[in-house]
Amino acid sequence: MALRIGLGTDLHRLEEGIPLVLGGVTIPWHKGPAGHSDGDAVVHALIDALLGAAALRDIGFHFPDHDPAYQGASSISLLREVHFLLKSHGWQLVNADVVIHLQAPKLMPFISDMQQKLAEALETTPECISIKAKTGEKIGPVGEERAVEVCAVCLLERS
Ligand code: MG
Repeated sequence: MALRIGLGTDLHRLEEGIPLVLGGVTIPWHKGPAGHSDGDAVVHALIDALLGAAALRDIGFHFPDHDPAYQGASSISLLREVHFLLKSHGWQLVNADVVIHLQAPKLMPFISDMQQKLAEALETTPECISIKAKTGEKIGPVGEERAVEVCAVCLLERS
């Protein structure tokens, strides 16, 4: 089969005083994702989408959260590793589409930087990486600014 679709999701609790890193971009804000790595939920969801499309398990399988090697790890470097893993299995990214659920701050000013960062790690162009942002309508964990949630889909083709 020449084309494969993948889906990935991630959720992180937001806590005071932690840097907010999304899509490899540090966003000035008073709260950030609690997590073993840098908690970059955009990259984590995208990694799971990519691995899912290739049926190569999931992020926890490749980067166990009990492994001290990934304490404070830059998620972008993990994305790069996954990209090379896919390449070695003969897969190439066609496109990815990502939805970030976050009440605040507004992400519009940071979207193109995220596209750039993710495209670099995946050796593609920013036009292949769509990123959209939605609020939580002030209800639920996202709306009450207690969590960031991300959903990603991607398409792979045989290289
Ligand atoms: Mg995560």
